[in-house]
Amino acid sequence: MKIWLDGNLVDESEAKISVFDHGLLYGDGVFEGLRFYSGRIFRLEEHVRRLFDSARAIVLDLPWTQEEVCKFTCDTVRANGLTNGYIRLVITRGTGELGLSPYLCKTPSMFIIASTIKLYPEEHYTNGLSVITCATRRPAPGALMPQVKSLNYLNNIMAKVEAIQANALEAVMLNEQGYVAECTGDNLFLIKNGVLLTPLISDGALDGITRAVIIELAEKLGVPFQEKSLTRYDIFTADECFLTGTAAEVIPVVSLDRRKIGTGKPGEYTHRFLKAFHELANTTGTPFA
Ligand code: PMP
Repeated sequence: MKIWLDGNLVDESEAKISVFDHGLLYGDGVFEGLRFYSGRIFRLEEHVRRLFDSARAIVLDLPWTQEEVCKFTCDTVRANGLTNGYIRLVITRGTGELGLSPYLCKTPSMFIIASTIKLYPEEHYTNGLSVITCATRRPAPGALMPQVKSLNYLNNIMAKVEAIQANALEAVMLNEQGYVAECTGDNLFLIKNGVLLTPLISDGALDGITRAVIIELAEKLGVPFQEKSLTRYDIFTADECFLTGTAAEVIPVVSLDRRKIGTGKPGEYTHRFLKAFHELANTTGTPFA
């Protein structure tokens, strides 16, 4: 496997980062996960734009333009001869001395991995996921801005541990006020009386690229949409529930805390969104060949 690292495509055995990199020492950095389908990177510009916004929000000056980062990403996929897969793009603060100050790091590092990913077993796309509510809360927006896709994922990892220990694959994370924020790596959507609902970004959700695609598709499919504060009550009483994310794509949720959502089976709206998402993903995007 060839990895793009600071301007060079190198063999994975040579793709190494310093132990003094603040990305490793402090989680000081930002990242993106992207998907490519049938030779095209899905929503490449949107992902790179979010990456640059994340970097800007943490005062990380990047020596590349967005166009360059798009090109490096395409180069990496091409170099690995893949047609379908997943891309991880990571930017770290770079190497510095010990000490928190980001000003100790002169140059950021970037690496790009093009590989494959399978987040959930196929059966869950057909039968739906059972999720739990975890005790780990999303940090308040005043502590860690939810729009920033930073290398600080410990909070999500602790939530994932809770899910796995409860025999579930995903956990619903609430914010400090008790409102639903999102899941550990996915945004959450509900269908109630024919209306599509999702939590506000300000309630602690990542401004997901797939989330934005679903909102676009709602308009195309003629499904009314509302972004609002949601509680577990809204999930328990919803007709349907599904999660979205670059890695997960669109996946139905059929129970929360062992209580059935709707009929306890993936619903009709979820199927429509799932189908429309795959059609879009397989027919649009930036060609890299
Ligand atoms: N929330 C979190 C915490 C995530 O890490 C992700 C990405 N895996 C998402 C939501 C979904 O965002 P996107 O659709 O942009 O992948």
